[in-house]
Amino acid sequence: MPIFVGGVVIAATLVMLTLSSAGHVASSRGHWFEFALFALLVCVCEVKPVSVARASGVQEVVASTTFTFAVFLSFGPLLAIAAQAAASLFGDTVARKSAMKMVFNVAQYTLAWGVSGLVLQGVLGAGTDVGAAAFTLRWTLALLACGITYFVCNSTLIGLIIALSGRTSLWHGVTEMIAREASSDVVLLALSPIVIVAAERSLALLPMLLLPVLAVYRSALLSAEKEHQAMHDTLTDLPNRLHFSAIMGRRLDDTRSKATHAAVLLIDLDRFKEVNDTLGHHAGDALLCQVGPRIAAVLPPGGAVARLGGDEFAVMLPSIRSRADALDVGGAIVAALEAPFRLDGFNLDVEGSIGIAIFPDDGTSADVLIKHADIAMYSAKGRHSGVELYNAEHDQHSRRRLGLLSELRTGIAAGEVVLYYQPKLDLATGEVTGVEALVRWCHPMFGLIPPAEFVPFAEHTGLIRPLTSFVLRTAVGQADAWLDAGLDVTVAVNLSARSLHDVAIADEVATLLDEFSLPPDRLQLEITESSIMADPARAKRVLEQLDAMGLHLSIDDFGTGYSSLSYLQDLPVREVKIDKSFVTHVVENPRDRVIVRSTIDLARHLGLRSTAEGIESAAAQEWLTSAGCDQGQGFHIARPMPTDVATAWLRAATQSIPTLASEMLAVAARSES
Ligand code: C2E
Ligand code: MG
Ligand code: MG
Repeated sequence: MPIFVGGVVIAATLVMLTLSSAGHVASSRGHWFEFALFALLVCVCEVKPVSVARASGVQEVVASTTFTFAVFLSFGPLLAIAAQAAASLFGDTVARKSAMKMVFNVAQYTLAWGVSGLVLQGVLGAGTDVGAAAFTLRWTLALLACGITYFVCNSTLIGLIIALSGRTSLWHGVTEMIAREASSDVVLLALSPIVIVAAERSLALLPMLLLPVLAVYRSALLSAEKEHQAMHDTLTDLPNRLHFSAIMGRRLDDTRSKATHAAVLLIDLDRFKEVNDTLGHHAGDALLCQVGPRIAAVLPPGGAVARLGGDEFAVMLPSIRSRADALDVGGAIVAALEAPFRLDGFNLDVEGSIGIAIFPDDGTSADVLIKHADIAMYSAKGRHSGVELYNAEHDQHSRRRLGLLSELRTGIAAGEVVLYYQPKLDLATGEVTGVEALVRWCHPMFGLIPPAEFVPFAEHTGLIRPLTSFVLRTAVGQADAWLDAGLDVTVAVNLSARSLHDVAIADEVATLLDEFSLPPDRLQLEITESSIMADPARAKRVLEQLDAMGLHLSIDDFGTGYSSLSYLQDLPVREVKIDKSFVTHVVENPRDRVIVRSTIDLARHLGLRSTAEGIESAAAQEWLTSAGCDQGQGFHIARPMPTDVATAWLRAATQSIPTLASEMLAVAARSES
C-alpha cells in the first residue's frame, strides 16, 4: 500500500507540474472575496462531515465537492486544488487521521482535480480565461467533461486503495466504488453551476446554498444507506446471505481466472439456542455481535465474513493453496471462539462447528458450495469434531436424514420404532433399580438408527407427539409386563422439550397409568435441564402436575446447560443424572472429578439422588461408588438392550443378588472357621 500511495503522490506532482507549465487555465474574475467564501465552504464541509447512522456506528461523509468544483469552474484548477488540499489537511488534522491517510487524501484530490484540469485545458484551450468563458457552450461542455473525469478518477483512486488494503479484486473494488459514489457525487457536481449562478447574483446567497447541498447529499447517502441495509444484517452490520452470495459470485470469478482454489466455511454456534432460551434474546444478540469481529480477526487478507441468519456465519477465502490452508483457518476460528464470551457480567463458553467446501472440487457455484459447506458443518456438529471438510459421504448422510423425515410417521405405525432398555444400578448394593427406555428405529434399509438422528427432527416437525405417545405407551406396557413377571423395576422415559411444554402430557400419562394399572412410582421421566430452561414457568407447572400424580422426575444430562442446581431445587425433581461427558473419563481427568464430586455432594445436600451415566470402566464405577454417587448406568454395567435381552438380563441380575449374598455368607463362614 505505501507503494501505491507513493505512486499517487508522484502522479499528482507530475500532473501539477504539467498543469502549471502548460499555462494553466487562469481566471480573470478576480472576485477574491468570492474565492475566499467558496474556499471557506470547502473547509466547513471537510471539517463538519454529514453523519449517517449505521448499525456499526456513525459513518461520516464530506460534501465539499460542490464548492471545490465551483472554485474550479470560476477560478481554475490550481486554486481549486489549493483550496481542496488545504481543507483536506485541515479536516484530517482535526479528525486526527494518520500521516499516511492525510498524504493520500491530499494526493488523491490533487490528482483527480489535476487530471480534470488537463481536460479543461484540452476543451477550452491552454491559457483560456475560465471565468470569462463561463456559461458559454464550450464552458458547459468542459463542465460535463471535467465533472465526469473528476468523478471517475476520484472513485477509482478510493476503490483501488480500499481493494489493496482488503487484498480484494482491484477491478471489483473500482467498479463497486464508482457505482456506490455515483448517487452522491453526480448530484454534488451538478449543483456547482447553480452555486456559481447564485454567487453571480449575491454572495449572501452562498451560505444559504450550503443547506440544500447538505440536504441533497444526505438524501443521496440515505438511499445508499437503504441499499446497504438491504445487503447487510441489521444486528451485526455484516453482509447478509444475499450479499454473501454476490460477494462469492464475484470472488469465484477472480479465483477461476487465476486458476487457484477458494474455500467457503459455514460456522454454527453450538450452544446459541441455550443462551437465547436461558439468558434471553438481549444476551443472544450481544453474543452474536461479538462473534463477527472474532472471526474477522483470524482471517487471512481477502477473507470475508457474513452472517447468514440466526447463529450461522459464513466465511469466504478467495485464494487458498490447499485444503490444509482452509482447515488451518477453520481451526483458527474454532480457537478464536473458544475463549469465553463476556455478557452482562457472565462468562459464557460457546463453541463453534465449522463445515468447509472447496472451490472448484466441491462445487463451482456459490449456492452449491454453501450447501455442501452446510452438510459438512452438520457432520462436524454430529461428530463434535469442530471442523470438517465436505465429502460426498456427508451428502449421502444428509440425504438419508432428509428422506427419513418423511418416513418416520409410517415407521412408527409399521412397528419399526422400538425401545431398548439400559439398566441402572444402586452403586452401593449392586442392586438393579430400574431401566432407561431408549428409542431406536429399525429401518428396513438403513438398519438401526440412533435417536440423535431422528428425535431432533421429530421435535422440529411436530412428529414428536406421536413418537412420545408411542414411547410412553410401550414403556408403561413393558413396566407392567415386568411387574407381572416378578421383575420390579422402574422404567425411565426421556421427555423432549416440546413434550414438556405440552399441557396435555400429564393427562396422557394419567390415562396410560390407569389403563395398565401401573403404580405411578414405577414410571420415571427424564428431562434435560436445557428443555426446562426454555420456558421455566411452564415446565414447572407441568412437572408439578406429574409429581402430584406420584411420578419420579429426574434431570438428565446435568452439567451441560446453564441452570444451577439451586434453581432446580425449586422443581419437584428427585434425581440428577450427571452427564456422561463428565463421567466417562472421571478417573483420568481431575477437572471431571471435581465437577462430578461437587455435583454428588450438592445433590445429597438438596435431598436429590445422584445418578452417573456413561460408566465405561470398572475403575470409574469404583471411583463413583467411593465418591458417594447413588446410582450408575453405562456400557460397563450393560448396553441398551432390546426387550427380550433386557428381560433375560434383569432376570439374571435379580436372581444373582441372593446368589451373591449366599456366596458372600459362605466366604464369611469359611473365613470364620
Ligand atoms: P440420554 O437420555 O442421556 O441417554 C443416554 C445415552 O447415553 C444413550 O444414548 C445411551 O445409549 C448412551 N450411553 C449409555 N451408557 C453409555 C456409556 O457408557 N458410554 C457412552 N458413550 N454412552 C452411553 P442413545 O440411546 O443414543 O440416546 C441419546 C439421547 O437421545 C438420549 O440421551 C436422550 O436424550 C435421547 N432419547 C433417547 N430415547 C428418547 C426418547 O424416547 N424420547 C426422547 N425425547 N429422547 C430420547
Ligand atoms: Mg436420559
Ligand atoms: Mg443423559
